[in-house]
Amino acid sequence: MIARVSLEIALRKEFDYLIPPGLAGQVDVGSRVQVPFGARKVMGCVTALAEESAHAKLKPIIKIIGTQTLVTPKVLKLARWIADYYCCAPEIALKSVLPEVVRKEQSGWRERLFVRALPFAGELPRLPKRQLEIWNIIEERREMPLQELLELTETTASTIRRLEDKGLVEISRQISERDPYAREHILPTQPLPLNAAQAQSLEKIKDAITKKNDEFQMTNGNERPSAPPSSPFVIRHSTFLLHGVTGSGKTEVYLQAIAHALEEGKGAIVLVPEISLTPQTVERFKARFSSGKLQTLVAVLHSHLSAGERHDEWHKIRQGRARIVIGARSAIFAPVDPLGLIIVDEEHEHTYKQEEAPRYHARDVAIMRGQMESAPVVLGSATPSLESYYNCTIGKYTLLELPERVDEQKMPQVRVVDMRQAARQEKGTPIFSPRLKEAITQRLETGQQTILFLNRRGYSTSLQCPKCGYVCGCPNCSISLTYHRMEQKLACHICGHSEQVPAICPNESCKNPAIRFAGTGTQKVEDTLARLFPNARVKRMDADTMKRKDDYRKILGDFRAGKIDILVGTQMIAKGLHFPNVTLVGIIFADLALHQPDFRAGERTFQLLTQVAGRAGRGDIEGEVVVQAFTPFHPAIQFARRHDFNGFYEQEMEFRGQLKYPPFSRVALLTLKGRNEEKVKFSAEHLKRELEKTFPESKVQSPKSKVHSAKAGLGSRSRSSDLIISGPAPAPLLRAETFYRHQIMLRTQRMSALSRELAKILQEIVLPEDVSLAVDIDPVDLT
Ligand code: ADP
Ligand code: ZN
Repeated sequence: MIARVSLEIALRKEFDYLIPPGLAGQVDVGSRVQVPFGARKVMGCVTALAEESAHAKLKPIIKIIGTQTLVTPKVLKLARWIADYYCCAPEIALKSVLPEVVRKEQSGWRERLFVRALPFAGELPRLPKRQLEIWNIIEERREMPLQELLELTETTASTIRRLEDKGLVEISRQISERDPYAREHILPTQPLPLNAAQAQSLEKIKDAITKKNDEFQMTNGNERPSAPPSSPFVIRHSTFLLHGVTGSGKTEVYLQAIAHALEEGKGAIVLVPEISLTPQTVERFKARFSSGKLQTLVAVLHSHLSAGERHDEWHKIRQGRARIVIGARSAIFAPVDPLGLIIVDEEHEHTYKQEEAPRYHARDVAIMRGQMESAPVVLGSATPSLESYYNCTIGKYTLLELPERVDEQKMPQVRVVDMRQAARQEKGTPIFSPRLKEAITQRLETGQQTILFLNRRGYSTSLQCPKCGYVCGCPNCSISLTYHRMEQKLACHICGHSEQVPAICPNESCKNPAIRFAGTGTQKVEDTLARLFPNARVKRMDADTMKRKDDYRKILGDFRAGKIDILVGTQMIAKGLHFPNVTLVGIIFADLALHQPDFRAGERTFQLLTQVAGRAGRGDIEGEVVVQAFTPFHPAIQFARRHDFNGFYEQEMEFRGQLKYPPFSRVALLTLKGRNEEKVKFSAEHLKRELEKTFPESKVQSPKSKVHSAKAGLGSRSRSSDLIISGPAPAPLLRAETFYRHQIMLRTQRMSALSRELAKILQEIVLPEDVSLAVDIDPVDLT
């Protein structure tokens, strides 16, 4: 027998190896193996088994890693789709489906010494008093870690050895599983009676889980393994979009849908953005499935776990002991089998997109996996992405709506304050408008709590000379340095570079001593609050204050306990937090995100404002939101003010349609980068000419001109005549970490076809050695 192996060293190729007689029957598709490669030994994954090979003189596999295949054939198939669709080497896609610690050659289990009581016949031998006490404890517990026993009985190992000599106990090495949530005390919960909207949504999802979807079986069964990837957006009715305002009971619907999947003998994957994966969230899932006939382990996968914990969680899933997985992006690859349901909460979140190869979007991978394994997918959000909502309007997804909050609470009052006016009154831009100041004062007087949101950390966002206009910029990136007052330094938020604060203008021909700070970050908000409200208890939550794992939990605990009056923070505080005593939310500069060079700027602003506003009024008292903005009449702000998703959707779709942006097309962003800007520019032009050759019927959009058609050439291999090529142009962030960057943007409705052609171009194109090309399919970050 022959095994085809994808090697971990990136070669974009698979190699055949002999399965030696000693390993016969043990090697399977998905096995991790060590094989000889030249003079080296390398690791790889078996992707297929065959009777014969086109190559003579095959080398044998050296050994198998682990006793169970690590990559299931289903996940393997998913990895192949990722490699094809996202234009990356198969070995890179394959690598990303297994956590690093699981891929390791040596076993990742933690072993401990355990003491176990042995059965004995007849009477207990006479024991000294001390040994008898210890024996009684062991007998009662049957088995326990040696260390725990020693601590409990304050004795030494030699005492226990004496019991072992007498044949009463056995001391042996055993696997001791790590449980990241062992410290939490979790009380079981029961399903809640649902309201009408919840019940209706649940019914549809349950139907889809139960239905042996014949259409599915047909399309899947006929697919050859080597068939070209299909776009994840072919019609399939088992993707649901659960659109419900915050507090409308989406999570309860997820919980009951998962229960149904378990009843059907299947497992579930729940994706949650990393930032929302709080102990509270995890506990809700653990509590529901901790007892009763649907009891199962709930495995958690996220970046705060230690490597050992991640290893154990993953194997609990692989062994089928944990049938529910809750995790961030990469949990979509969890080896749940059979899979009955996938949930993607906050589906609009951009953190579902991985920003390094493979640049996959976990929501789209979820939909693909759902299709491959006939598992319904539920996307949930209060502010769905335009793409998902659009897919509902054209019948690809089924829309489920939860229009009201469960407790019939009203949505908070949102007031938009025109900061231009505030600036005129105060001669200069204040951080707090009179309206917001007044509202905070009221809350302090009545003992209610306030959240203030500003998506910019640091003290001032730039240091500028008022005389010559000089701005202190990063030497490695094309952005200005942010002033951090506590540390007394200037820092770059892209590359981390930091430097001393200059006393005079660094411009040699100016040297003005009156250099000034401009712009406001969260540190300055915190400082200003301390001046305006000296008695208020203020805490700040951003990447600068949340350095340790427990900081987050501690501050939120204090806030919940009422030990903090005002919480200031960045997007960290925008999501999922639920504090009944918060009756005021202030958004310091609502238009910050609006002026980004990104076609999603409006959508992002709308989502952020809606999410932040959702933090107000989660208790008995109606909430108030004060939005400070310099462009108060911008549609994204106005629609958010009225809680009008549909209104926003309609008007934003018009803009997207005119410019052929998603969801009317899909985007591929090609970024060339290198230290020599001329070479980068030249390479980008070269790539563009190659693209025009490959797609002669495409439309070309140069930075300054309108769209025109590229000349039709001979020998066309183009199938994407709807392709629009724009650029090359300098990236919005021209320089990052010392690299210059130029971009070409492609738009098409048939991305799978484009991906295939791009993969060929990537293989063939010759670029200077110090210029690299990155392909990002469906990018969410255009900078
Ligand atoms: P979402 O996920 O949409 O923000 P949740 O599922 O967290 O909403 O629900 C908000 C609150 O309402 C939670 O405390 C939850 O326990 C409660 N809740 C949800 N559904 C019901 C229901 N049918 N009856 C009573 N309380 C409910
Ligand atoms: Zn920098």
